[in-house]
Amino acid sequence: MTYNELKNEENKYVMNTYGRFPIALDHGKGATLWDVEGKKYIDLASGIGVNCMGYDNQILIDAITQQAHKIMHASNLFTTEPMVQVAKKLVEKTHLNGKVFFANSGAESNEGAIKLARKYSFDKYGEGRYKIVTLVNSFHGRTVTTLKATGQDRFHNYFFPFTEGFDYAVANDIDDVRRKADDMTCAIMMELVQGEGGVLPLDQEFVKQVEALCREKDMLLIIDEVQTGIGRTGSLFAFQQYGIRPDVVTMAKGLGGGVPIGAVLAADTCCNVLTPGTHATTFGGTPLVCASANAVLDHVGDPKFLHEVKEKGEYLKNGILALGKDSIHGVRGMGLMLGIIVDEGKHSAFANKLIENGVLAITAGKNAVRLLPPLIISKEEMDEALAVMAKVF
Ligand SMILES: *Cc1c(COP(=O)(O)O)cnc(C)c1O
Repeated sequence: MTYNELKNEENKYVMNTYGRFPIALDHGKGATLWDVEGKKYIDLASGIGVNCMGYDNQILIDAITQQAHKIMHASNLFTTEPMVQVAKKLVEKTHLNGKVFFANSGAESNEGAIKLARKYSFDKYGEGRYKIVTLVNSFHGRTVTTLKATGQDRFHNYFFPFTEGFDYAVANDIDDVRRKADDMTCAIMMELVQGEGGVLPLDQEFVKQVEALCREKDMLLIIDEVQTGIGRTGSLFAFQQYGIRPDVVTMAKGLGGGVPIGAVLAADTCCNVLTPGTHATTFGGTPLVCASANAVLDHVGDPKFLHEVKEKGEYLKNGILALGKDSIHGVRGMGLMLGIIVDEGKHSAFANKLIENGVLAITAGKNAVRLLPPLIISKEEMDEALAVMAKVF
């Protein structure tokens, strides 16, 4: 079907909940994609930071195919090997000495972390210590609870009543965190690079102070690595570059390399809080997605690969700055999670223009063109993208 034919049927049959770009993607290879009409694009979006291994990747195809022949789903009433392997890799590679709960998305992983934090406190201190402090400008998901965890007013609409017990502190302002984290607070949850909020990395000093405050008041430190995790910032998890030891790390997007999987990784401080009957999900950790996640972790978890992500990030960032464009006010981010800063409100127009010219990019916050390319992107593909940027900016 052509794009127009597809779009007509989409309008008729699919709920209108997304402002989609006007192309229909069909297939890809590496970090290059083609739409249904055969037009080629360099992908600097990876879905939204999901397709870390790119397209038509033989390692993932083999892992998924072999598992599909064996068993795709077993439910959590039985033990399966791929899940145990993913959990072991996550625990060993982070040195958190803890355990993993598997979910299916970022929001669901954050829901799990929120439940874990509240039960941790309930078990130790009884009822009432339920508050969770998050940061202004954060993004934590689209369920009724994670919308309220998200520190942006525009998400707190229509769906009243929201889950109670969230308060928001200004990022990089430890005094505000101290004010908001009172005796009712059981956890602080934050992204280390705010993704949807505008590709805003937190200050290391601030992050360390938040960690110290959590230790002082026995609050859990929950790091939302749904976007920053799985090699995106040049380490397997961003927290490893901040020199902190979180109690809980949530992840999703890149973990399956394209299949839906999420996870709550709890350190030894709280990994036995959730017990039979307190949390569950039908699809969580199903063998098919875990086979894919195993392949991703083996590949992306390799220190040499992670080093290359950092180098590619530097190459892309420097390449963009070297264009010397007045419309570009800077590039921020870590690794291959970058935001090109433009005039406020102009980011969507630039993303649209890039796509028109064969580069897929998305937006973040009020003024960032967000780049989350597949981590396997080649130098040639980055050069092609930079040539398009030279024209568009
Ligand atoms: C995308 C994202 C989520 C939500 O993940 P879903 O899979 O869409 O539910 C949560 N937190 C962060 C930081 C994200 O980037």
